[in-house]
Amino acid sequence: MATTISDGDGAADRQRRAQAALTRLLVRDMRSFRRLIIPSRLQESVPDWIAAVRALVGQYGDASATLAANYYEAQRVAARVTGRFTVPLANPPSAEQVDNSLRWATKDLWERDPEDPQTTDAQREPLDMRLVQAEKKAEAVVQKLVADQGRGTVQEAVRRDRQAKAWARAAALAACHFCKALAIRGAVYKQDTVRFRAHDNCHCGIVPVFRGQRFELSDHAREWERLYKEFAAPHSGDQLSRFRRALIEHGHMPVL
Ligand SMILES: [Zn+2]
Repeated sequence: MATTISDGDGAADRQRRAQAALTRLLVRDMRSFRRLIIPSRLQESVPDWIAAVRALVGQYGDASATLAANYYEAQRVAARVTGRFTVPLANPPSAEQVDNSLRWATKDLWERDPEDPQTTDAQREPLDMRLVQAEKKAEAVVQKLVADQGRGTVQEAVRRDRQAKAWARAAALAACHFCKALAIRGAVYKQDTVRFRAHDNCHCGIVPVFRGQRFELSDHAREWERLYKEFAAPHSGDQLSRFRRALIEHGHMPVL
């Protein structure tokens, strides 16, 4: 008999929370590196900070991939599928990719000519403000780099494991409308070429679906689906923003 699996079941929820907790620790550790950036010596000190953060991304990314692999294995056992399978851990992002992300996050730190029309308002802020903004951006990109390793591990396992047939997105109750719109699509079969899309600070998880399992949307995702079908899908124009409005009006969006 087919067992059902959902984006809102206990294991999926615990995994999503564990990954979110991991990236909270990552951000806390990152903040302790703040002192590496010396405002009077940006040229010399920003690269030191980048190197330190890159090492953190390596450590936390491994932890994220391992957490995800353990979750996958436990789900596989719970699904009672046959045959052995070793979950390959997702590759970490390259040093270049991490550095580029961090350079992007810190690009407004550099002194610009305020008279230059190319200079943006963000670049005209005082340095302490620019530092706060750079750190915020860096935390968001790093969170994604780390969480992607966990998600990538589950996704790749589904692709390779003959006993896995699909994956589904598990979005938190507090997730944004973009993620909720993707979550209501339910199970994405492995022959589909759909990629998992995530934004910075996205804590969505991936639920593997095995042979013999039937995927069902959780009650909350079914409610998002109802709102989408009623208030967004039948209308022309920007359906995502209609969906967002419907979520807000029905109390399904966090107040930001
Ligand atoms: Zn998300």
